[in-house]
Amino acid sequence: MPGIWHTPAVRRAPLVLWLLGACAEPEGSSPDVLADTSSAAPAPWPSPCVRAQPLTADGQRLQGAMAYTKRVGAESWVITPVRGATLVAGEQVVGATDDRGCFDVPLLDGIRAEARAALSHFDVTVVSDAGAWSWPVAGVDVLVDEPYAAGAFNALEGAVRVDLSLGALDPDLRGAPLQIRWGEAVRPACGSCFYFDGFTLELTGQPGDEDAHDDPVLLHELGHYVEAAFGTWSNPGGGHDLEPAAPAMAWSEGFATWFQAWLRGQPDYTDLQPSRIYQLDLEATPLIVNGVVPEGDPSGRLSEGLVYGLLWDLFDERLEDDDGQSTDGDGLFRAAVGVLGHPPGSVADAGAPGADLLDFLRRLACGSSVSVSAVTESFGFPWSSSLCP
Ligand SMILES: [Zn+2]
Repeated sequence: MPGIWHTPAVRRAPLVLWLLGACAEPEGSSPDVLADTSSAAPAPWPSPCVRAQPLTADGQRLQGAMAYTKRVGAESWVITPVRGATLVAGEQVVGATDDRGCFDVPLLDGIRAEARAALSHFDVTVVSDAGAWSWPVAGVDVLVDEPYAAGAFNALEGAVRVDLSLGALDPDLRGAPLQIRWGEAVRPACGSCFYFDGFTLELTGQPGDEDAHDDPVLLHELGHYVEAAFGTWSNPGGGHDLEPAAPAMAWSEGFATWFQAWLRGQPDYTDLQPSRIYQLDLEATPLIVNGVVPEGDPSGRLSEGLVYGLLWDLFDERLEDDDGQSTDGDGLFRAAVGVLGHPPGSVADAGAPGADLLDFLRRLACGSSVSVSAVTESFGFPWSSSLCP
């Protein structure tokens, strides 16, 4: 599966909803739709962009809007703006799409939109084996409806969402460039994973398990990038489910699962797979995730489910209490990414080696008004203020 598409592929007609919200009706005739004009393309596609010239290039500029079909279920799709894509002509960068997917670029031959962006806090590129994913911008209203190309722009959208969240840490932060490998031929043995070495994220493109479309999976892996690029990375890697694991692994996996839920505002993790739907409920974790091994040891092995359940409870509690304490999402995010301080290593590591739940609790609760004891008790984690420095 090449990463560059010259003609949109035909696929079955999806259920399409329009998500762009309040759209300024373009002047002039109805918008063009760049896609096959068979039943697969939604029509009409209302562009959100107001143009100086009605719908056609004025000879100097090309103005239009770009969107992609985002999968939201096994058979459901929504049209979503392409945000932050880089527009190029040959090797020359000529512009980018804005938050509504609108672009206004010099009219040149062979303009393409690439799934890469220089964001506020990091650079990101979505690549297949053939290089950066791109799509021709041959018209003024451009719809990316080929599923793998659409997935590339959804992966870019995930990075844009993560970038926006990073302002809560420090507006001046810059992280290492991130590469996201995605395509039908990308089949990592782990399913989808983040590799600290190289700051690379791989998303499986296996038919039926196209993870670039599964926001929980995508944002979980991006959460690992956030820990690695802006916090402390101690995850030893390897397989994991909900079993008691090394504290550093349980912390990293639990944090990433909480992070994706926080960004989405939904307490679940859902991964569509060919033969099943893998699902976690952050609000109702199974009893098996509670406690540590050996019992009573704050440096003991624990489940990633304990970590994400506890983080979600701390966040959720704030929603119910609205007490204005630092357990709001931004405060938790700051404490979680800064587990061992920022820059990494500036706070002493306690308990098991590496960033883990004990370090997070010490950072969040010691010397602050945040109380975590009710939540730690409910999950059977042996926290006490005597563990503070
Ligand atoms: Zn993970």
